[in-house]
Amino acid sequence: MTVRAPRRVLTAATAALLAAGGLTACADGGGGGSEPGKVDVVAAFYPLQFLAERIGGDTVTVSNLTKPGAEPHDLELNPRQVGQVADADVVVYLSGFQPAVDEAVEQNGGDRAFDVAGVTPLRDAAAGGHDHDHEGEAGHAEEGGGKDPHVWLDPTRLATIGDKLAERLGKADPDHAAGYTARAGALRTELTKLDTEYADGLRTCQRREIVTSHTAFGYLTERYKLEQIGISGLTPESEPSPKRLAEVAEEAREHQAGTIFFETLVSPKVAETIAREVGAKTAVLDPLEGPPADGDYLSVMRTNLQTLRTALDCS
Ligand SMILES: [Zn+2]
Repeated sequence: MTVRAPRRVLTAATAALLAAGGLTACADGGGGGSEPGKVDVVAAFYPLQFLAERIGGDTVTVSNLTKPGAEPHDLELNPRQVGQVADADVVVYLSGFQPAVDEAVEQNGGDRAFDVAGVTPLRDAAAGGHDHDHEGEAGHAEEGGGKDPHVWLDPTRLATIGDKLAERLGKADPDHAAGYTARAGALRTELTKLDTEYADGLRTCQRREIVTSHTAFGYLTERYKLEQIGISGLTPESEPSPKRLAEVAEEAREHQAGTIFFETLVSPKVAETIAREVGAKTAVLDPLEGPPADGDYLSVMRTNLQTLRTALDCS
Protein backbone atom coordinates (compact mmCIF):
# COMPACT_ATOMS: atom_id res chain seq x y z
CA MET A 1 0.00 0.00 0.00
CA THR A 2 1.14 3.51 -0.69
CA VAL A 3 -0.56 4.98 2.34
CA ARG A 4 2.35 4.50 4.71
CA ALA A 5 3.98 7.90 4.45
CA PRO A 6 0.84 10.06 4.37
CA ARG A 7 -0.57 7.94 7.17
CA ARG A 8 2.14 9.04 9.56
CA VAL A 9 1.32 12.67 8.82
CA LEU A 10 -2.37 12.02 9.30
CA THR A 11 -1.78 10.27 12.57
CA ALA A 12 -0.01 13.41 13.64
CA ALA A 13 -3.07 15.37 12.57
CA THR A 14 -5.22 13.11 14.69
CA ALA A 15 -2.83 13.55 17.58
CA ALA A 16 -3.21 17.30 17.21
CA LEU A 17 -6.96 16.90 17.41
CA LEU A 18 -6.52 14.75 20.50
CA ALA A 19 -4.36 17.39 22.08
CA ALA A 20 -6.98 19.97 21.28
CA GLY A 21 -9.38 17.96 23.39
CA GLY A 22 -11.65 17.12 20.49
CA LEU A 23 -11.11 13.42 20.86
CA THR A 24 -10.66 10.88 23.57
CA ALA A 25 -8.51 7.87 22.84
CA CYS A 26 -10.44 4.89 21.54
CA ALA A 27 -13.67 6.86 21.66
CA ASP A 28 -14.87 4.73 18.79
CA GLY A 29 -16.80 2.03 20.59
CA GLY A 30 -16.65 -0.48 17.79
CA GLY A 31 -18.51 1.69 15.30
CA GLY A 32 -16.12 0.80 12.52
CA GLY A 33 -12.54 1.95 12.57
CA SER A 34 -9.47 0.12 11.50
CA GLU A 35 -8.49 -3.47 12.04
CA PRO A 36 -4.91 -4.53 11.44
CA GLY A 37 -4.37 -5.85 7.95
CA LYS A 38 -7.69 -4.61 6.63
CA VAL A 39 -8.41 -1.62 4.43
CA ASP A 40 -10.11 1.05 6.51
CA VAL A 41 -12.97 2.44 4.39
CA VAL A 42 -15.08 5.38 5.52
CA ALA A 43 -18.38 5.77 3.64
CA ALA A 44 -20.26 9.07 3.77
CA PHE A 45 -23.79 7.62 3.82
CA TYR A 46 -25.71 4.36 3.50
CA PRO A 47 -25.71 3.37 -0.21
CA LEU A 48 -21.94 3.95 -0.30
CA GLN A 49 -21.55 1.84 2.84
CA PHE A 50 -23.58 -0.89 1.14
CA LEU A 51 -21.31 -0.78 -1.91
CA ALA A 52 -18.12 -0.76 0.15
CA GLU A 53 -19.25 -3.70 2.29
CA ARG A 54 -20.41 -5.78 -0.65
CA ILE A 55 -17.36 -5.10 -2.76
CA GLY A 56 -14.84 -4.96 0.05
CA GLY A 57 -15.90 -8.26 1.59
CA ASP A 58 -13.84 -9.34 4.57
CA THR A 59 -10.65 -7.58 3.49
CA VAL A 60 -12.03 -4.16 4.49
CA THR A 61 -13.67 -2.57 7.49
CA VAL A 62 -16.38 -0.05 6.65
CA SER A 63 -17.74 2.73 8.80
CA ASN A 64 -20.57 5.09 7.88
CA LEU A 65 -20.39 8.81 8.76
CA THR A 66 -24.18 9.14 8.71
CA LYS A 67 -25.63 7.35 11.71
CA PRO A 68 -28.92 5.42 11.48
CA GLY A 69 -31.90 7.75 11.74
CA ALA A 70 -29.88 10.81 10.72
CA GLU A 71 -30.74 12.69 7.58
CA PRO A 72 -27.56 12.83 5.47
CA HIS A 73 -28.10 16.09 3.55
CA ASP A 74 -27.39 18.29 6.55
CA LEU A 75 -24.94 15.94 8.28
CA GLU A 76 -22.51 17.57 10.67
CA LEU A 77 -19.30 15.81 11.60
CA ASN A 78 -17.96 15.65 15.13
CA PRO A 79 -14.18 15.81 15.70
CA ARG A 80 -13.96 12.04 16.01
CA GLN A 81 -15.52 11.64 12.57
CA VAL A 82 -13.18 14.23 11.09
CA GLY A 83 -10.42 12.07 12.56
CA GLN A 84 -11.94 9.00 10.87
CA VAL A 85 -11.77 10.78 7.52
CA ALA A 86 -8.15 11.73 8.21
CA ASP A 87 -7.16 8.19 9.17
CA ALA A 88 -9.06 6.18 6.55
CA ASP A 89 -7.36 4.34 3.71
CA VAL A 90 -10.26 5.14 1.37
CA VAL A 91 -13.03 7.72 1.89
CA VAL A 92 -16.07 7.13 -0.33
CA TYR A 93 -18.27 10.21 -0.66
CA LEU A 94 -20.42 12.16 -3.11
CA SER A 95 -19.29 15.73 -3.56
CA GLY A 96 -22.05 18.34 -3.54
CA PHE A 97 -24.33 16.22 -1.32
CA GLN A 98 -22.99 16.72 2.21
CA PRO A 99 -21.08 19.99 2.65
CA ALA A 100 -19.53 18.87 5.97
CA VAL A 101 -18.05 15.78 4.33
CA ASP A 102 -16.80 17.80 1.35
CA GLU A 103 -15.01 20.08 3.77
CA ALA A 104 -13.47 17.24 5.80
CA VAL A 105 -12.28 15.55 2.62
CA GLU A 106 -10.82 18.78 1.33
CA GLN A 107 -8.90 19.34 4.54
CA ASN A 108 -7.94 15.78 5.48
CA GLY A 109 -8.89 13.42 2.68
CA GLY A 110 -5.80 13.80 0.55
CA ASP A 111 -5.63 11.41 -2.39
CA ARG A 112 -7.47 8.76 -0.43
CA ALA A 113 -10.85 10.28 -1.26
CA PHE A 114 -13.02 8.59 -3.87
CA ASP A 115 -15.75 10.89 -5.18
CA VAL A 116 -18.61 8.90 -6.70
CA ALA A 117 -20.03 12.10 -8.23
CA GLY A 118 -17.22 11.84 -10.78
CA VAL A 119 -18.15 8.34 -11.99
CA THR A 120 -21.21 9.00 -14.13
CA PRO A 121 -22.43 12.44 -15.19
CA LEU A 122 -25.03 13.66 -12.70
CA ARG A 123 -28.43 14.98 -13.74
CA ASP A 124 -29.02 18.68 -13.58
CA ALA A 125 -31.12 19.56 -10.56
CA ALA A 126 -33.91 20.93 -12.72
CA ALA A 127 -33.80 18.22 -15.39
CA GLY A 128 -36.67 15.88 -16.08
CA GLY A 129 -39.99 15.70 -14.35
CA HIS A 130 -42.15 18.74 -14.32
CA ASP A 131 -40.70 21.93 -15.53
CA HIS A 132 -42.12 24.66 -13.38
CA ASP A 133 -39.80 27.04 -11.66
CA HIS A 134 -39.70 25.76 -8.12
CA GLU A 135 -40.38 28.68 -5.82
CA GLY A 136 -38.03 29.13 -2.93
CA GLU A 137 -35.66 26.41 -4.02
CA ALA A 138 -32.79 28.58 -5.10
CA GLY A 139 -30.80 27.30 -2.11
CA HIS A 140 -30.42 23.71 -3.25
CA ALA A 141 -29.27 24.42 -6.74
CA GLU A 142 -26.31 26.23 -5.25
CA GLU A 143 -25.51 23.53 -2.73
CA GLY A 144 -25.30 20.77 -5.28
CA GLY A 145 -23.69 22.88 -7.96
CA GLY A 146 -27.00 22.53 -9.76
CA LYS A 147 -26.70 18.73 -9.78
CA ASP A 148 -29.07 16.13 -8.41
CA PRO A 149 -27.06 13.94 -5.99
CA HIS A 150 -29.52 11.02 -5.60
CA VAL A 151 -27.69 8.88 -8.16
CA TRP A 152 -27.87 5.65 -6.14
CA LEU A 153 -31.58 5.24 -6.87
CA ASP A 154 -30.76 4.08 -10.40
CA PRO A 155 -29.42 0.52 -9.89
CA THR A 156 -27.48 0.59 -13.16
CA ARG A 157 -25.62 3.72 -12.15
CA LEU A 158 -24.90 2.21 -8.75
CA ALA A 159 -23.40 -0.83 -10.50
CA THR A 160 -21.08 1.44 -12.49
CA ILE A 161 -20.04 3.22 -9.32
CA GLY A 162 -19.40 -0.21 -7.80
CA ASP A 163 -17.02 -1.17 -10.61
CA LYS A 164 -15.05 2.04 -10.09
CA LEU A 165 -14.97 1.52 -6.35
CA ALA A 166 -13.54 -1.96 -6.92
CA GLU A 167 -10.75 -0.39 -9.00
CA ARG A 168 -10.09 2.15 -6.28
CA LEU A 169 -9.95 -0.51 -3.55
CA GLY A 170 -7.66 -2.58 -5.75
CA LYS A 171 -5.27 0.37 -5.94
CA ALA A 172 -5.29 0.79 -2.16
CA ASP A 173 -4.88 -2.96 -1.63
CA PRO A 174 -3.38 -4.61 -4.74
CA ASP A 175 -3.08 -8.04 -3.07
CA HIS A 176 -6.86 -8.35 -3.01
CA ALA A 177 -7.68 -6.55 -6.26
CA ALA A 178 -9.09 -9.68 -7.92
CA GLY A 179 -11.53 -10.17 -5.04
CA TYR A 180 -12.81 -6.59 -5.34
CA THR A 181 -13.35 -6.98 -9.06
CA ALA A 182 -15.14 -10.30 -8.63
CA ARG A 183 -17.47 -9.03 -5.91
CA ALA A 184 -18.29 -5.89 -7.92
CA GLY A 185 -19.18 -8.16 -10.83
CA ALA A 186 -21.45 -10.27 -8.61
CA LEU A 187 -23.13 -7.14 -7.28
CA ARG A 188 -23.58 -5.85 -10.83
CA THR A 189 -25.46 -9.07 -11.65
CA GLU A 190 -27.81 -8.48 -8.71
CA LEU A 191 -28.33 -4.82 -9.59
CA THR A 192 -29.04 -5.71 -13.21
CA LYS A 193 -31.68 -8.18 -12.04
CA LEU A 194 -33.23 -5.44 -9.89
CA ASP A 195 -33.21 -3.09 -12.88
CA THR A 196 -35.06 -5.68 -14.98
CA GLU A 197 -37.65 -6.14 -12.23
CA TYR A 198 -38.22 -2.38 -12.16
CA ALA A 199 -38.48 -2.07 -15.93
CA ASP A 200 -40.93 -4.99 -16.13
CA GLY A 201 -42.86 -4.00 -13.02
CA LEU A 202 -43.40 -0.40 -14.09
CA ARG A 203 -43.97 -0.97 -17.80
CA THR A 204 -47.76 -0.96 -17.82
CA CYS A 205 -49.34 1.34 -15.25
CA GLN A 206 -52.50 3.43 -15.05
CA ARG A 207 -50.51 6.47 -13.96
CA ARG A 208 -46.88 7.50 -14.29
CA GLU A 209 -46.70 10.53 -11.97
CA ILE A 210 -45.41 10.21 -8.43
CA VAL A 211 -45.82 13.01 -5.90
CA THR A 212 -42.90 12.87 -3.45
CA SER A 213 -42.00 14.99 -0.45
CA HIS A 214 -38.48 15.83 -1.66
CA THR A 215 -37.20 15.28 -5.17
CA ALA A 216 -34.98 12.31 -4.36
CA PHE A 217 -36.28 10.07 -7.12
CA GLY A 218 -35.16 11.87 -10.29
CA TYR A 219 -32.76 9.11 -11.39
CA LEU A 220 -35.33 6.43 -10.72
CA THR A 221 -38.13 8.25 -12.55
CA GLU A 222 -35.82 9.04 -15.45
CA ARG A 223 -34.76 5.41 -15.87
CA TYR A 224 -38.26 3.92 -15.63
CA LYS A 225 -40.08 6.69 -17.48
CA LEU A 226 -42.09 7.96 -14.56
CA GLU A 227 -42.63 11.60 -13.73
CA GLN A 228 -41.70 13.05 -10.35
CA ILE A 229 -43.68 15.89 -8.82
CA GLY A 230 -41.64 17.02 -5.85
CA ILE A 231 -43.30 18.97 -3.07
CA SER A 232 -40.07 20.44 -1.73
CA GLY A 233 -36.80 20.59 -3.61
CA LEU A 234 -33.71 18.44 -3.63
CA THR A 235 -33.17 18.75 0.11
CA PRO A 236 -35.83 17.48 2.48
CA GLU A 237 -35.68 20.31 4.99
CA SER A 238 -36.62 23.02 2.54
CA GLU A 239 -40.04 24.39 3.40
CA PRO A 240 -42.38 24.51 0.42
CA SER A 241 -44.19 27.82 -0.07
CA PRO A 242 -48.00 27.97 0.09
CA LYS A 243 -47.92 28.67 -3.65
CA ARG A 244 -45.89 25.52 -4.25
CA LEU A 245 -48.26 23.46 -2.09
CA ALA A 246 -51.21 24.72 -4.11
CA GLU A 247 -49.44 23.86 -7.37
CA VAL A 248 -48.64 20.35 -6.21
CA ALA A 249 -52.21 19.80 -5.04
CA GLU A 250 -53.44 20.93 -8.42
CA GLU A 251 -51.07 18.61 -10.26
CA ALA A 252 -51.95 15.72 -7.99
CA ARG A 253 -55.62 16.27 -8.85
CA GLU A 254 -54.88 16.69 -12.53
CA HIS A 255 -52.99 13.38 -12.66
CA GLN A 256 -55.44 11.68 -10.31
CA ALA A 257 -52.61 10.73 -8.01
CA GLY A 258 -54.15 8.37 -5.50
CA THR A 259 -51.04 8.36 -3.34
CA ILE A 260 -48.73 11.06 -2.01
CA PHE A 261 -45.36 9.69 -0.96
CA PHE A 262 -43.35 10.69 2.03
CA GLU A 263 -39.96 9.42 3.09
CA THR A 264 -38.41 7.41 5.85
CA LEU A 265 -36.35 10.17 7.46
CA VAL A 266 -38.64 13.11 6.75
CA SER A 267 -41.75 14.24 8.60
CA PRO A 268 -44.91 13.15 6.75
CA LYS A 269 -46.71 16.40 7.63
CA VAL A 270 -46.54 18.16 4.28
CA ALA A 271 -47.38 15.02 2.32
CA GLU A 272 -50.34 14.42 4.63
CA THR A 273 -51.59 17.96 4.12
CA ILE A 274 -51.63 17.59 0.36
CA ALA A 275 -53.07 14.08 0.53
CA ARG A 276 -55.95 15.36 2.67
CA GLU A 277 -56.57 18.22 0.32
CA VAL A 278 -56.81 16.06 -2.79
CA GLY A 279 -58.34 13.01 -1.10
CA ALA A 280 -55.32 10.78 -1.66
CA LYS A 281 -53.61 8.19 0.52
CA THR A 282 -50.04 8.47 1.75
CA ALA A 283 -47.34 5.82 1.44
CA VAL A 284 -43.66 5.58 2.24
CA LEU A 285 -40.95 5.51 -0.40
CA ASP A 286 -37.48 5.01 1.05
CA PRO A 287 -34.83 7.10 -0.74
CA LEU A 288 -32.20 5.02 1.09
CA GLU A 289 -30.49 8.08 2.48
CA GLY A 290 -30.07 6.25 5.78
CA PRO A 291 -29.43 2.59 6.61
CA PRO A 292 -32.71 0.64 6.48
CA ALA A 293 -34.07 -0.77 9.74
CA ASP A 294 -34.47 -4.10 7.95
CA GLY A 295 -32.79 -5.58 4.94
CA ASP A 296 -30.44 -3.76 2.62
CA TYR A 297 -30.37 -1.62 -0.52
CA LEU A 298 -31.71 -4.45 -2.68
CA SER A 299 -34.61 -5.46 -0.44
CA VAL A 300 -35.65 -1.84 0.21
CA MET A 301 -35.60 -1.12 -3.52
CA ARG A 302 -37.89 -4.12 -4.03
CA THR A 303 -40.26 -2.83 -1.34
CA ASN A 304 -40.25 0.56 -3.10
CA LEU A 305 -41.11 -1.18 -6.37
CA GLN A 306 -44.12 -2.89 -4.81
CA THR A 307 -45.25 0.41 -3.28
CA LEU A 308 -44.96 2.12 -6.66
CA ARG A 309 -46.81 -0.68 -8.48
CA THR A 310 -49.70 -0.44 -6.04
CA ALA A 311 -49.84 3.36 -6.13
CA LEU A 312 -49.64 3.58 -9.91
CA ASP A 313 -51.94 0.62 -10.64
CA CYS A 314 -49.40 -1.35 -12.61
CA SER A 315 -50.36 -4.66 -14.14
ZN1 LIG B 1 -32.23 13.66 -0.65
